[in-house]
Amino acid sequence: MKIICNTCGKYQTNCYIVSKNGLDLIIDPGESAYEFVIKNAANPVAILNTHGHFDHIFSNFGLKKFFNIDVFIHKEDKFMLENDVFRYGYKTVDDAIGIGGAKFEDVHFKIGDFDVTFLHFPGHTPGTCMIKVDDAIFSGDFIFMDSIGRYDFPFSEKHSMKLSLERCMKIDGDFILYPGHGEKTTLKYEQKNMGYWIDMIDGGGISELNYTTKLNY
Ligand SMILES: [Zn+2]
Ligand SMILES: [Zn+2]
Repeated sequence: MKIICNTCGKYQTNCYIVSKNGLDLIIDPGESAYEFVIKNAANPVAILNTHGHFDHIFSNFGLKKFFNIDVFIHKEDKFMLENDVFRYGYKTVDDAIGIGGAKFEDVHFKIGDFDVTFLHFPGHTPGTCMIKVDDAIFSGDFIFMDSIGRYDFPFSEKHSMKLSLERCMKIDGDFILYPGHGEKTTLKYEQKNMGYWIDMIDGGGISELNYTTKLNY
């Protein structure tokens, strides 16, 4: 499996193209990702979104139309594709495929030869997922290198963020994490930081976000 990344748009969002056996998956095609994907994805079979924020989904509409492929997102974030809730000016997608079961439930399925699992970690948004493709995990805005996603946006859920971090601490094995912003990292390395983030959520609420420059997305 080959993974290429391009950092796109004013929020410096990572768009990934994952390729295997002549097929590609497109992950988080945000603002300005359109040309990168058209140039580098020979035969895409699906678009996957880690969550519904505009900087991860901006190019969904154009790429879906160009390639005639489906968009997959957790069902709890589907409303962000259907309505431009933050008025960023993206074209909406009404027929994305909503993935997910109960809260925190993981959903596994196959797309072509790819083993895909949506691991539900709500908090940053209600439908935030880490998306596992074979042995790679795309962590979206849930986990970054040395940081976590913000949980003070509209539709964020602070308590869910804490529960998601507790759940993430318990995942066995090690995987490379490909985040929505910044450099790649590993699950084991980031698990060591999670106690710190949980304490911060317990202790400070939202105001503490003003005192760190680490939480940007
Ligand atoms: Zn986000
Ligand atoms: Zn983001």
